[in-house]
Amino acid sequence: MAKVTLKNVYKTYPGERGKEVTAVEDFNLEITDREFVVFVGPSGCGKSTTLRMIAGLEEISKGDVLIDGNKVNDIPPKNRDIAMVFQNYALYPHMSVYDNMAFGLELRKYPKAEIKKRVLEAAGILGIEQFLDRRPKALSGGQRQRVAVGRAIVRQPKVFLFDEPLSNLDAKMRVQMRTEITKLHQRLQATMIYVTHDQIEAMTMGTRIVVMKDGVIQQVDSPLTIYNEPANLFVAGFLGSPPMNLLNGKLEGANGAVFFREARGGAIEVRLDSRSSAAAYVGKEVILGFRPESCDVVPAGASSVESDNCFQARVDIVEPMGPETYFHLQTGAHSVVSRSPASAQQSDVGRQLTFQIRADAAHLFDPVTTHRIV
Ligand code: ADP
Ligand code: MG
Repeated sequence: MAKVTLKNVYKTYPGERGKEVTAVEDFNLEITDREFVVFVGPSGCGKSTTLRMIAGLEEISKGDVLIDGNKVNDIPPKNRDIAMVFQNYALYPHMSVYDNMAFGLELRKYPKAEIKKRVLEAAGILGIEQFLDRRPKALSGGQRQRVAVGRAIVRQPKVFLFDEPLSNLDAKMRVQMRTEITKLHQRLQATMIYVTHDQIEAMTMGTRIVVMKDGVIQQVDSPLTIYNEPANLFVAGFLGSPPMNLLNGKLEGANGAVFFREARGGAIEVRLDSRSSAAAYVGKEVILGFRPESCDVVPAGASSVESDNCFQARVDIVEPMGPETYFHLQTGAHSVVSRSPASAQQSDVGRQLTFQIRADAAHLFDPVTTHRIV
């Protein structure tokens, strides 16, 4: 098993009129042995390029990639002891499932008996023993993806790389394969790097998440730290569904307390603890961030109506999800989503209801640097 290190890694492509395109910029990361690291970010942010540089499928423009401390920049892919699983499965259509899985080992001149042992074992782990004689076209998408994963497993590589392996599957199969890959990681105890644009896959699968934007790492941390303490506005808005509410406003100080007041006469006013980092922003423009689940409807007549951090808003849309309801609100200045365990009626649409924000779960961002203040 293996440690993977990226040191000041850049990837530039020649662009139009001699202008270079930087796909990956100063990427620094140390992935420890047996970690499951997820690269997540919107399409085009450089996830695949980074993965392909680790695999050796893409030349590194600047910087170093190390496996177990050895620089591999100039080592060809087949000698890096890495196996990659792609979104489109990349199976050989004219070969059986068995041969698809065996092929890589045959190329490397493994003994027949060893190949058979490994293929049968991988097929057992993935539950595809009964398909070993079939061609890929006679398999469902989920089964094909299992074959592609099986082909990686038989290699017993130091590092597994996955590039959006579940994107071509329907929603239900995606959820199933997601848990299977997580189990596979626990079973194989291998180092895995997994690329996705899907924030739910990132949150649920990764031991650590690397959030990327425009080729630049925005934050690296555990899923819950990224969720609860996003480094900047981009990370705050990218992870979480529905996304974090972000409101422009101003920070005001009065009687030792600090208040956020929504811009443009909006109804939201939140009293924040006078945490020292916020105090420096009193009198300045800030952005308030709070997740939908930190904003709940206050039942009519409840005593908390008059208390802190309540606001009135018109209900635009009600989305009953079963265990909870999403209220889409209009505060006068912003649209806000509340995610409440309360059940709602369609007749709530158009009404003014009272909502309350949990101030201890609210964040402030600097609108210029976009960094989180508190
Ligand atoms: P992701 O996998 O996050 O969707 P990619 O790593 O595929 O993103 O691409 C990152 C950026 O690099 C994109 O802007 C893309 O257009 C650019 N890019 C990728 N491959 C090439 C190439 N061969 N030539 C020029 N630009 C490329
Ligand atoms: Mg990609």
